[in-house]
Amino acid sequence: MTLHIKRIQSDIEAINIFNSTPGSGVTRPTFSKEYQGATDYVVEELNKIGAAISICPAGNIRGRLTGSQKDAPAIMMGSHLDTVAHGGQFDGVVGVVTALEAARRMVEDKVTHRLPVDVVIFPEEEGSRFGRGLLGSSIWTGTLDSDRLNSIKDANGMTYLDAMAQAGLSVNDDRRLNATDIAAMLEVHIEQGAVLEKRGYRIGLVEAIAGIQQLNITIKGTADHAGTTPMMDRSDPLQGAARIIIEIDKIARRTGPRTVATVGRIICEPAQVNVIPGLVRFSVDIRDSDKKLLDSAVAEIQQAVQNICNERQLGFEFVGMSESEPVVLSAGIINLLEEKSREKDITPFRMISGAGHDTAIVAELTRAGMIFVPSRDGLSHCPQEYSRIEDIALACEILLETVIELAA
Ligand SMILES: [Zn+2]
Repeated sequence: MTLHIKRIQSDIEAINIFNSTPGSGVTRPTFSKEYQGATDYVVEELNKIGAAISICPAGNIRGRLTGSQKDAPAIMMGSHLDTVAHGGQFDGVVGVVTALEAARRMVEDKVTHRLPVDVVIFPEEEGSRFGRGLLGSSIWTGTLDSDRLNSIKDANGMTYLDAMAQAGLSVNDDRRLNATDIAAMLEVHIEQGAVLEKRGYRIGLVEAIAGIQQLNITIKGTADHAGTTPMMDRSDPLQGAARIIIEIDKIARRTGPRTVATVGRIICEPAQVNVIPGLVRFSVDIRDSDKKLLDSAVAEIQQAVQNICNERQLGFEFVGMSESEPVVLSAGIINLLEEKSREKDITPFRMISGAGHDTAIVAELTRAGMIFVPSRDGLSHCPQEYSRIEDIALACEILLETVIELAA
């Protein structure tokens, strides 16, 4: 193992010591004492290479290597250190440690650069503590109004700002992140799926981050006796829901190559063996990187609900729960990442991210790119989450070369 790989490995291990559930995955909610331990470690490492540390709105942490040009827009790289409950050791962490190592290498190798190079830790990416994902980056970029932080609370009623203060974070640069502050954003992340592994690729380049629409569909019928109600007299919402769910699968398969739709939760009432159900509720999660295809899939699903319920004389309700737009990343940055990969004899795989990332938020301001490393068996958000250190180190090399070129 080379020195660089060893350093990345030991950073990952050092960060994951800060975990409130040792032995059953990693639990490190935003602003918990474990979170504070992990961010303190990274800040200390950034201090060692002379990076200027700023605490930015919402507790975003930035370590800056100043470039030769004063007040120039920065090349930003990084990810998050908060986790879901009982999550893995790599989600988010990989993006922070590769950014840290790339910054270290630039300092050690005395790389001259015109633009500032920033290592960033975004808080509350997962939304596990305060119930909203990508919160830190959304506030910093102004996508979400900063007043919201007064009312956003965790399960114990503690506000975001109080939790942030408790974690020893006081903002010393309260400026919002603007398009003029940043020249590019790069994030290394684990794939959290099995596409790369199944196809034998070591590096994925993300062309777009899928948009997501989540729906709640309720089908209403009449609860009745399972023995005394003839088939022709029934108004059974579960039979209607079953047909709709089959349609949803067909719609996703024919809409586009990257369309995915999932019915992940279904509630049936009264849920008795000998009673025809009276009401069924189910969720639908639809994703696509193409806004038009996403909208058309949702419209088709809505039409299918209407048709099937009319046919079977069932009532229905169709409620949109949440919606995020697809984000297309920069073709120029992706081409540069591809070039740097090929210089290392690596053929990267161009792909879509089905999961949301802070880079999707920052991409509203600047050119952005993401590098994915394979996840073993596609597992993530669980203790079994695993990515090979050699792949992480390779992603770091590609990141480093790219940042050097962008910041030159
Ligand atoms: Zn993540």
